[in-house]
Amino acid sequence: MDQNNDDIFLSLVSSGAASGLLLWQGWTVTGFVLFTVFMYFLSKLRGTEKIRTPENFQVVVIGAGVSGICIGKRLKDAGINFTILEKSATLGGTWYDNRYPGVACDVPSHLYSFSFFMNPSWTRAYSHGKEIHNYLQTATSKFGIYPNIKCGKKVTSSTWDQDQGVWKIECEDGDSYNANIVIYGSGALHKPRLPDYKGMEKFKGPAFHTAQYQKGFDPAGKKIGLIGTGASAVQAVPNLAEMGVKSLEVFQRTPCWSPPRLDYKYPESVKTMFKLLPFTNTILRWFYFWRGEIRFRMIFQQESWIQAKLSKYVHGMVKHHYRNVVKDPELCAKLTPSYDMGCKRITPSDTYLQAFNKENVHLTTDKIEEITETGIRTVDGKNHEVDAIIYATGFDILGSANPFKTIGRNGADVVKSFGDTPMALYGITHYDVPNAFWLLGPGTGLGHNSIIYMIECQAEYAMDGIRNLVNSGAKSMVVKKEVVMNYWDWMQENLKGKVFSSQQVASWYKNDRGVNWTLWPLDLVSYWWYTKTVKMEDYNLSY
Ligand SMILES: Cc1cc2nc3c(=O)[nH]c(=O)nc-3n(C[C@H](O)[C@H](O)[C@H](O)COP(=O)(O)OP(=O)(O)OC[C@H]3O[C@@H](n4cnc5c(N)ncnc54)[C@H](O)[C@@H]3O)c2cc1C
Repeated sequence: MDQNNDDIFLSLVSSGAASGLLLWQGWTVTGFVLFTVFMYFLSKLRGTEKIRTPENFQVVVIGAGVSGICIGKRLKDAGINFTILEKSATLGGTWYDNRYPGVACDVPSHLYSFSFFMNPSWTRAYSHGKEIHNYLQTATSKFGIYPNIKCGKKVTSSTWDQDQGVWKIECEDGDSYNANIVIYGSGALHKPRLPDYKGMEKFKGPAFHTAQYQKGFDPAGKKIGLIGTGASAVQAVPNLAEMGVKSLEVFQRTPCWSPPRLDYKYPESVKTMFKLLPFTNTILRWFYFWRGEIRFRMIFQQESWIQAKLSKYVHGMVKHHYRNVVKDPELCAKLTPSYDMGCKRITPSDTYLQAFNKENVHLTTDKIEEITETGIRTVDGKNHEVDAIIYATGFDILGSANPFKTIGRNGADVVKSFGDTPMALYGITHYDVPNAFWLLGPGTGLGHNSIIYMIECQAEYAMDGIRNLVNSGAKSMVVKKEVVMNYWDWMQENLKGKVFSSQQVASWYKNDRGVNWTLWPLDLVSYWWYTKTVKMEDYNLSY
């Protein structure tokens, strides 16, 4: 089978499996489409309920990425006063910070967008970072929340005042804000992680992390060393290779699973259809959603023999794809992982493996010993001379979960409470932190679907919490410790048998002790089910 056929075959199998499973569950494809259209129109009929807060009631949101914008829209709809504090010069978070060549989303755009603000004009199936950033700017404008965002406000601490029942939020510039409710939307993949190789400071040329891509850096004619083979590397490598680099040497510690992404441009006629028939966007969105849910059962869950068989089959197909694409069998073997797909983030691409067939792209698998003035020395003693180093070395996940000091109830230091296993009920509320909600908090990352779905569920949960608090007349609400501890045990139990908890390979999903505190263990429908309302019996109220 040639590569094209192979890609088409992969696509057909996954799409076929998606449709097949729907049929198996008693649905017809027509039923699915009609149901989605019905739900689409039903959602349009749903009004927005205002929440009557006491005078001077204030919400402070920290971060103006997808999370901050999502909750901003919900707060605005509910008629609640709020301010979003953002440390950068503008909104967008991930999609503003990451500007390396090829930065893109690996979830289809119709799914990686707000359900309440679909975009018929996506130019391609998987949009580039700039287009997503533009989309977020348009959404913010459409929601009318630009005036609520204060940029250049880096939060340095949040402190709970028990007597007043308010949060005091302090910024680096000396400003401070009081809030009845604080919403943390400061990102899960936000702090770039640089390795600590000996001699890094000695290197004479430009050296930077992918999330801090040097403005104006021109790779043309340069010898570049790129360290890492995670999601950012998979996007940057083929794009840099196309930018006239003299050579691109990729330093790999662990190979990655990179099945075809099957990206394509939307023809104008299809975009016109999306505009004229808005529910077609929703149909496509739900198709991708269910496909993701089915893939979760095929690849990530390995509990039953059927799943084990399906997973083996999928692995076989992807390995076949590697052999078809990479011309040199020795190189192919080095690029092929020996751990199961999903143990680390799967990084689909239509161009990453192909890039290694180019004459100017090389793979080095020897361990890095040190950075020298002129390059990268590996343990075999070879100094790989380069003009520039790009660190595609991922993010400090624990640091991202603790971006600043938070002092909660009874003076509890949340960074200490979190330790190396941050936890919160559904990733949203913590027993030491009253009147506060996390968006994209601990244990809510995903390896198989759109994080925006999770963020929307969390925003709804936060709004329900605020509604309940206001209606109760209480000053504060805090989740019970035993509820969070029981939830943690439940989560760890449910992580068993999931490939992303396996100890086959180290990954950012797990801490140094191998404990996974970052990922939601089940499918997304379950997450929606658990978070659709706040169970007030899980909370203590103070008046
Ligand atoms: C390169 C890259 C690719 C990704 N691709 C995908 C993908 O394909 N699919 C997917 O589902 N997810 C992907 N993600 C995850 C992505 O982070 C989320 O999808 C989403 O953007 C998270 O939005 P957020 O608002 O929660 O966090 P962020 O986008 O990180 O935004 C957090 C905001 O908080 C601000 N902030 C942080 N600290 C402070 C502070 N102390 N004071 C004030 N403001 C602060 C930041 O400046 C930032 O604007 C990717 C992440 C990266 C880095």
